[in-house]
Amino acid sequence: KSRHPDISFPNNVTIWEWLFEETSKHSPLVKYPEEQLAGYVDAITKERVSWKDVKEAAVHISTALVKEYHLSPGDTVSLFSRNTIWYPVMLFSAMRVGGVVSGASPAYNVEEMTYALRTADAKFIATHQASIDIAAEAARNAGIPQKHIFLLEGQVEGYTTIKDLIESGRRYGDTNPVPYTKIPQGKKNGDVCALLSFSSGTTGLPKAVMISHQNVIAQALQTEPITPADHKKVLGVLPMFHITGLLHGLHIPLVINAEVIMLPVFNMGTMLTAIAEYQITEILVVPPILIRLVRDPIVDKYDLRCIKRIASGAAPVSEEILQLLKKKFPGSGFKQGYGMTESCAALTAHPPWAYDYRNAHTVGMAVASTEIKVIKEDGTEAEVGESGEILARGPQVVMGYLNNEKATRETFDADGFLHTGDQGFIDNEGFITITDRIKELIKVKGIGVAPAELEDLLLGHVAVEDCAVLGIPDERSGERPKAFVVVKHGHKANETTGLDLIAYVEKNKVRHKWIKQIEFVDEIPKSPSGKILRRALRDRAKRGEKGT
Ligand code: AMP
Repeated sequence: KSRHPDISFPNNVTIWEWLFEETSKHSPLVKYPEEQLAGYVDAITKERVSWKDVKEAAVHISTALVKEYHLSPGDTVSLFSRNTIWYPVMLFSAMRVGGVVSGASPAYNVEEMTYALRTADAKFIATHQASIDIAAEAARNAGIPQKHIFLLEGQVEGYTTIKDLIESGRRYGDTNPVPYTKIPQGKKNGDVCALLSFSSGTTGLPKAVMISHQNVIAQALQTEPITPADHKKVLGVLPMFHITGLLHGLHIPLVINAEVIMLPVFNMGTMLTAIAEYQITEILVVPPILIRLVRDPIVDKYDLRCIKRIASGAAPVSEEILQLLKKKFPGSGFKQGYGMTESCAALTAHPPWAYDYRNAHTVGMAVASTEIKVIKEDGTEAEVGESGEILARGPQVVMGYLNNEKATRETFDADGFLHTGDQGFIDNEGFITITDRIKELIKVKGIGVAPAELEDLLLGHVAVEDCAVLGIPDERSGERPKAFVVVKHGHKANETTGLDLIAYVEKNKVRHKWIKQIEFVDEIPKSPSGKILRRALRDRAKRGEKGT
């Protein structure tokens, strides 16, 4: 059980009501005078909106969405965009009137976006000028009318921009907008879906994870007590379509009234400039960025003494990188968070008294109101220090997978515990160490890649009889996919076929899913029921054995 005091959270309010309405004691608009309100600022253009501006714009946009586009509670809006200050504005606008928001990677191609729209049953898309062609084609495939595609930034003929929506909504009057949607009578905020994020969970294709209003509110409250008071500037570098970027860039800053410095695109130069310019004290990044921080010579060109803490999440950090970080940033502390999309981000984190590097290799301790147990392979509960699968229960554990009862039942057990598919142990101080990943998931630059998705694609290639994909270590990305392939009769298991398969994946999938290596084998090891024996392949990859 968490060693932090339990949090109490309201169960009858929506995220919008909790963050923006006068009735909420948690709203920054209630807690702070107007001139002290933080907000979102674009690190490049310097365009800024305060929480008050966000509210005002969202009131108008949501009015237009309901009056002119007939958005109904429960309709999904897909946010297909890079980070921009207009991302949160659109998200809160949809949520204000009961819309469900689903993030999609801005790097998706047409097929991937079509899959995301269909899986989340999206009715609207908000995108960026650079992604409009992909959005339009995917929308056609998913039966979404062009009128339902909005532009967060830029202008393209025939498309409504977010600024047009603000103007349309304003026409209904400043004092009489469409009222905000409340939690329906007889329901709690834990029963109402607010977000649909994608995750492949422990097995299979990416699924739409149903995240409730309660999950987000609880996670923000679980984070608040372990956030140091000097954390007043948030580096908005993690992509908003992923749960970590979403919470740390959107919901949590409002609760702690911290300004979010939005980075529309990632490169080391812009990130370091923003850190130095805005004097950011705590940076939350993913391990591949930590690697760049210790290895990239560009870092030495910046005065980064403002950094008091480096926080990492979404994937494991090696001991070597931890040592190098400690040396390179001697005045700063280190912390980690661990969790999943299915736990609305963090299950564990380092508490403020543990930012020295003593426990840096662990993922910290259970956050408030969270229980963690470790189950051994024989199904019994592990003792302190014994390894097994990590299970977790708490108010941040999500509702389940949209339209996928089977996967929901397999992942969330009858006692309310989430089966993480991660292996680890708890020590006697309560620190948790992740030792391995039992599930199929591959983490490339902190973003999940589902082996099943690449296997499905490869099986569609003329030369492939059978295949299995798993993650192998990669210096820059943490992990990258490797494919074991059995070639079809009449095809050759040689370099040309290998290169052809790599090119085929590159043509059909977004960059972080690209295959690093192909190994030809005579057969894919399978259980009697036909399940790929991934562990056997993993052991083989670790031993560096070669197939034919
Ligand atoms: P996602 O749903 O994309 O957030 O992926 C969740 C998975 O990422 C977890 O189940 C872990 O396998 C991995 N993960 C997240 N945070 C950490 C961490 N701090 N250390 C090691 N693995 C992590």
